[in-house]
Amino acid sequence: MVVEPLLILTRHSHPRHLTGRPRQSQTTGRRVFDSLHQLRIIPLIVTRTPPSPAQARVRQILAILNTTHPDAKLALKFSTPLELLVALILAAKARDDLVNTVTDQLFKKYHTAADWTQLQEQDIRQINFYRNKTRAIRQAAALLVAQFGGQVPDRLADLLTLPGVGRKTANIILGNAFGQPAIGVDTHVLRLAQRLGLTTQTNPDKVEADLTSIVPAQDAVRFCHLLQFHGRRVCTAKQPACPTCPLRKLCPWPAKTAP
Ligand code: SF4
Repeated sequence: MVVEPLLILTRHSHPRHLTGRPRQSQTTGRRVFDSLHQLRIIPLIVTRTPPSPAQARVRQILAILNTTHPDAKLALKFSTPLELLVALILAAKARDDLVNTVTDQLFKKYHTAADWTQLQEQDIRQINFYRNKTRAIRQAAALLVAQFGGQVPDRLADLLTLPGVGRKTANIILGNAFGQPAIGVDTHVLRLAQRLGLTTQTNPDKVEADLTSIVPAQDAVRFCHLLQFHGRRVCTAKQPACPTCPLRKLCPWPAKTAP
């Protein structure tokens, strides 16, 4: 356990912590202190638990991947939570670049949740399972209109009530559209988390729980983007480039592709 002395200085400290004479405020009538000289320095002791070995390793991985893939971001294009919801339903077992090509036109035609209840199959014919996906988008949009005022909700439990939305999709929406510290476990995040020894689980929900316990909350979304990019560019499923991988020294499988 690390113990750190901390000095707190504030103009709004409780009066018993302050020295000097306050004056009466002309506007509020309250007693105020005008100068830092009137403040007493209050020594506080705060304790900070040092990171576990796994948490420390995650921080090193984050630093290296941030340098290696500074351009990492969500591959799907969107400008609203509703567009991201639609793009994610379309992206199930489909290429992100194809989804982006289709949504380029789609987002010009459909705007509100009510619009999406009228989605036409022929508008997404290029994407696999287009009949099922049309149905899922229409039903999700209808539920948004009926239950959520036409807006995509920003709570996990609510998102999970939408047709076509599982935990992965819900977390990606929370993290990328609402800025919440959520970890969406897609195929790249799952594979990389296992290869890097960050989890021994195979169930995505349990992998999410393991990662949530070791990835700093403020880096949760960024961590997912970095693993996705590393999984596409370096640590691919079939032929990971171990000899040139910048995570080699931190990886339990640095010789995965050694002859
Ligand atoms: S060393 Fe190999 S297995 Fe480990 S993260 Fe890098 S590419 Fe993947």
